[in-house]
Amino acid sequence: MSDPFRRSARIDAVELSEILKISELADALKREGRDVISLGTGEPDFPTPAPVIEAAHKAALAGETTYTLTAGRLPLRKAIGEACQRENGYRPETGEIIVCTGAKQVLYNAFAATLDPGDEVLIIAPYWTSYPDIITVCNGKPVVLPTTAETGFRITPEQLRGAIGPKTRWLLLNSPSNPSGAAYAKDDLEALAEVLRDTPHVGIMVDEIYQHISYVPFHSFRAVAPDLADRTLIVNGVSKSYAMTGWRIGWGIGPKRLISAMVAVQSQITSGASSVSQAAAAAALEGDQQLLAERCDDFRDRRDMMVAALSATGVLDCPSADGAFYLFPGCARAFGKTTAKGRRIETDADFCEALLEEEGVALVPGRAFGTPGHIRLSYAYSRASLNEAATRIARFCANLK
Ligand code: PMP
Repeated sequence: MSDPFRRSARIDAVELSEILKISELADALKREGRDVISLGTGEPDFPTPAPVIEAAHKAALAGETTYTLTAGRLPLRKAIGEACQRENGYRPETGEIIVCTGAKQVLYNAFAATLDPGDEVLIIAPYWTSYPDIITVCNGKPVVLPTTAETGFRITPEQLRGAIGPKTRWLLLNSPSNPSGAAYAKDDLEALAEVLRDTPHVGIMVDEIYQHISYVPFHSFRAVAPDLADRTLIVNGVSKSYAMTGWRIGWGIGPKRLISAMVAVQSQITSGASSVSQAAAAAALEGDQQLLAERCDDFRDRRDMMVAALSATGVLDCPSADGAFYLFPGCARAFGKTTAKGRRIETDADFCEALLEEEGVALVPGRAFGTPGHIRLSYAYSRASLNEAATRIARFCANLK
């Protein structure tokens, strides 16, 4: 008898998130009473700014509790346009903006709106774990372009040119990147834009969610290549910049024909983002912006502290990061060695599992991001937790034989 709830072929191909697996294992150990430090997840440890919460409260009391326009409330789209002008030097029209339930849903709406079975999307490894799965759910085929620490985890224009084929519908870039922290400089983006000018059948999606956590000058792709705006979708949101992951507000900025197709998808899936959260996001964009720089400086300081600590292990190869709040060190020097408790390390997953079992530190193996031989850690945690984690990682590495 076939099970009515068997997974569709499309969903069967979707992997259970490796990040989730590690956090489940970490939780199980915590329940056993073990002292576990998890540096596995990616959200700022700052609170949502109080004036943002007050604005949400006020909006709810004032009756902003109903369905909104599917594309997002006009005051929020106006605030997004103004923020874009202020920060990136271009001003999208209201009809070029869609507000979604987190940046994640911007990606989903765009791929659902445009991909037919067999259409290819170029993604750069190491990639954010959700990219291939969202593409698969939307019937597309993720095509992975690998990068290494030697090229700073960035693709080269030649690599891009060689990868684009007749079935390529999108190139998906993420700068600064989760998990590598790499950002594309203005020159890099210009060189990629030059290649993309020759391939008018390719859309360009640029996930700029870490724009405000950048330790190098940030450049929005649409500002660098305004002539490509007609096939560019910029993805951004308040989750990381204003510490608002739970409010679930992200947006896409793109040409009207794409935005209206995304609005059609959204109208059948969620009807639009939460009204109260939209009021909160507008308040964040219109409120004190000084905190963005202060928080970014604080992350930079923690980055430096962790790069120094991990490099000092002599086992991890830890390049610094241009932005976001992750480090992506190589762990290959541990391969072929044995831990204090006799576990043999052959892969990044072995490294993470042994580190969790023996020292109670949860990190995510690089294979989850399409780049084995590395590990990802988030430094969006208190300095006390980071110090303790660094001590344990150093001890784990020192004990390898
Ligand atoms: N893009 C990247 C690169 C991310 O790291 C994340 C969050 N981990 C998102 C998008 C999703 O953001 P949101 O919470 O706004 O859906």
